[in-house]
Amino acid sequence: VPAGVRSTGTTPDPAAVAPALLHWFRAARRPLPWRRDRDPYRIWVAEVLLQQTRVAQAAPYFERFVRAFPTIRDLAAASEAQVLKVWQGAGYYARARNLRAAAIAVVAGGGELPRTEAELRTLPGVGPYIASAVASLAFDEPVVALEANGLRVAARWTRTEGDVRTPRVRSRLGAVLAALLPPDAPGAFNEAVMELGETICLPRRPRCVVCPVAFGCRAFRELPDPGLVPSPRRLPARPLVRAAVVVLSSRGRWLVQRRPAEGLLGGLWEFPGGKIEPGETARRAAERELAEETGLVAPSLRARGVVRHAYSHFRVELHVFTGTLASRSLPPLDGVRRWVTPAGLARLPLPKATERIVARLAEGAGRASPGSGSRRGRTPPSRPGGVRRPPGRARAPRTAP
Ligand code: SF4
Repeated sequence: VPAGVRSTGTTPDPAAVAPALLHWFRAARRPLPWRRDRDPYRIWVAEVLLQQTRVAQAAPYFERFVRAFPTIRDLAAASEAQVLKVWQGAGYYARARNLRAAAIAVVAGGGELPRTEAELRTLPGVGPYIASAVASLAFDEPVVALEANGLRVAARWTRTEGDVRTPRVRSRLGAVLAALLPPDAPGAFNEAVMELGETICLPRRPRCVVCPVAFGCRAFRELPDPGLVPSPRRLPARPLVRAAVVVLSSRGRWLVQRRPAEGLLGGLWEFPGGKIEPGETARRAAERELAEETGLVAPSLRARGVVRHAYSHFRVELHVFTGTLASRSLPPLDGVRRWVTPAGLARLPLPKATERIVARLAEGAGRASPGSGSRRGRTPPSRPGGVRRPPGRARAPRTAP
């Protein structure tokens, strides 16, 4: 046991735990859409989605994605905007951009997904968890796919009470799982550990009475509440970001702008706007942001209420204003701005908050349409206008350690 890692436990007996877990998994595994076959491409897409999205939420996004891009060649041939549009709503859009970039790299190399963890890690955006999950689940490479569920389960089996986010504890728990990994079924074992963590060994209230491996679990045998291992993490309060958004219309179209390719919500389209500075009114911020971002002088803006949205690391409060340009000719645009009809906007990849703004306008106008008093928008890289997220913590089950 590495120094500083408190563990009173020993590794569960692999001769007993792995067979019991696999036996349970064969009977209890949920019929999830990515389990219908062992297509490496589908497994890869699913694991990328599951890295920061819960299983129930990921399923419809997975179905939509593989329907739009049934093969890795289809994904490689798609534009970034097409991929982002299909991914819309799943969040963490860098995952979609990386999937496409990796697909392009794979197709350039012949079209076959690499079969080993080491080779998979050379692809854009493929980290240790995705590489080991795909290598073991799709190609049966005997490597541990270490993610939040496995860390929790292994910590309980061994009653390891250190912080599972630290490299030292992760390393120890990875070794625990590696010792249990059956060489003839590494993929099934990894999947079974995750399934146990997602359905029985739950974060706060583990269902020990129905656990197939309770006999090998020290937390269960020795503690009144196994759910206290590992130590519950207290999440920091999510800060509130207040921003003004301008939906500007002219001749039946809205002005939208594309966010920078890299970073939060990269490549998505939104209305112009930005953070409300201390001491500034929402209206003043709307006028200032519009001028700073587009060079346009705001016409008389009409307040259209507040749209709220919560991201994993912060909450946003978007003060929405609409306005109409009187000019008969639309002002010239650069490559990141576009005048779009409502139908055109619906075809673009949009952040959730922008969807909500459109819905809010629709509520107020029977149906949202430019000219019913809208305004426009775009947001600079570092300000939450439409909405920008700070680099963040994951919220879902398969968060890679
Ligand atoms: S006995 Fe309880 S704590 Fe231990 S692995 Fe099973 S569900 Fe988790």
